[in-house]
Amino acid sequence: MYYNENTIIYFTGQFVKAAEAKTDLYSQSLHYGYAVFEGIRSYPVNGGSKMFKGKEHYDRLRRSAEVMKIPFSYSTDQLVELTYETLRRNGFTDAYIRPIVICSPNMALSKGKESYLAIECWEWTNGYMSNKMKIMTSSYRRPNADAFHVDAKVSGHYVNSILACQEAKDNGFDEALVLDSNGYVAESSGANIFYENNGVLYTAPKGNILPGITRATVLEICEELNIPVQEKFFTPEKMRGADAGFFCGTAAEIVGLSSLDNVPFAKEWEDTLSYVIQQAYKCKVLEKPFQLEQKVA
Ligand code: PMP
Repeated sequence: MYYNENTIIYFTGQFVKAAEAKTDLYSQSLHYGYAVFEGIRSYPVNGGSKMFKGKEHYDRLRRSAEVMKIPFSYSTDQLVELTYETLRRNGFTDAYIRPIVICSPNMALSKGKESYLAIECWEWTNGYMSNKMKIMTSSYRRPNADAFHVDAKVSGHYVNSILACQEAKDNGFDEALVLDSNGYVAESSGANIFYENNGVLYTAPKGNILPGITRATVLEICEELNIPVQEKFFTPEKMRGADAGFFCGTAAEIVGLSSLDNVPFAKEWEDTLSYVIQQAYKCKVLEKPFQLEQKVA
């Protein structure tokens, strides 16, 4: 359960109980998936709660609203402040934060007239990063970039994610690897993807993916640790049987993959650069110094 009778959310100008908040059955968001949202993590840091890259997430939310022509006037600083207040009112430190911008009642296929902001959060109890995901190449493709703003975080886009993720689960896998409309690897239902071969990391370029804030953090880590990384198109055949692979996203953090289409990744997770990156990411979000072990040659 994401909330109980005590949970507080921010909703259009006030802090209210989640159980008592009301939304509109005639909203454009409900009927057409016309809403924008974010997924943010806060971590326990120095005895308090610290959002990881909160500013970057709220900049993206504002941009998503802008490209979708949803009116939205909050500044990033205001949004950050309101989020810390929502966390404080709920007493959360280790949490997942879900802001969503919902549109007013309107059955027409025209741009949003008015919007409402909700900031919801719940305690994070999933623990940190695992390493054993079995994934399959999905029969669903990502929406074509000419048909949609794929780099914006829009609710309706996630119907495609639900189809891909559920197909993988129905076939006994943990997650889906989703290709773009040209047949190149794009991302998973809710995370970006990297694979590693012979000491080099590869990830899909921007264009047909949601360019994640975690993906950008992984690129930063590679730069800091001198790990070679290439942003380029590649097919699932290139990735199958490679040394290692991982998904990365705010909720997923860095999750190691054990196999793709039942073909195992070749190296032990702990012997890979991907593992080093996972450890470095953990240090970054918790604001701890990273001591590089003898992993990078
Ligand atoms: N791709 C998709 C489709 C996602 O839903 C997410 C999660 N927001 C990501 C990638 C990763 O983005 P981020 O690292 O910003 O969470």
